[in-house]
Amino acid sequence: MIVLKDIVKTYHLGQSNAFEALQGVSLEIQAGEMVAIMGTSGAGKSTLLHILACIDRYDSGEYLLDGTSLDDFSEKKLADLRNEKIGIVMQDFALVENFSVMENVSIPLDFSKKKRHNKEKKALATQAVASTGIEDQLYKKVKELSGGQKQRAAIARAIINNPALILADEPTGALDSKTTKEIMHVFGELNKKGKTIVIVTHDTEVAKQCQRIIRIEDGRVL
Ligand code: ADP
Repeated sequence: MIVLKDIVKTYHLGQSNAFEALQGVSLEIQAGEMVAIMGTSGAGKSTLLHILACIDRYDSGEYLLDGTSLDDFSEKKLADLRNEKIGIVMQDFALVENFSVMENVSIPLDFSKKKRHNKEKKALATQAVASTGIEDQLYKKVKELSGGQKQRAAIARAIINNPALILADEPTGALDSKTTKEIMHVFGELNKKGKTIVIVTHDTEVAKQCQRIIRIEDGRVL
């Protein structure tokens, strides 16, 4: 699913405060794997995840996603690819608090190349929300939900376009240990259904539930 070859990312390239956050990262993640990325704060985990998510570009090296090299992709092509192939889950949920769960979860459908009628959108959103176990919260506003319910809604939004890959940046960082277990169960079920999942985490309990841990330190894979 993912092949990275010698990826280098420098912030403020060419300036006196240039900082090489990734110093030649090479790794492979197979389709269907559930992998944790661990490392101390500042190690380069978020930078790596943002590159995997096609949110940030790299300066050199090669990134192959599902066999396709992304080196020469335009911003537009990357945005389309992200919408179709990648679901993203953030620590702070990144939901619109004043929208209902249904409205939040449906947002990626509006950016999809595939045009759908409202009825179909509603059915897809309902199905995604049901698969994260909060179908009874469909019409509630996000601001009325618990942290765990918010993260379930964010996961539902991440999977609505049926992406092959789910990337999560500290998805349990704002949750208590019981809720963390529940959210990891949701990721586990998605993985069983064939999704490739990459989770950046500080939490060893979360990492233990993944099949493999990739450790990053000072911008390199250990
Ligand atoms: P982690 O997620 O492991 O905590 P990050 O990938 O966020 O690490 O950051 C790696 C390094 O890159 C850190 O030293 C951080 O200060 C630096 N960094 C991250 N983002 C930027 C940025 N936008 N501009 C400059 N430096 C950055």
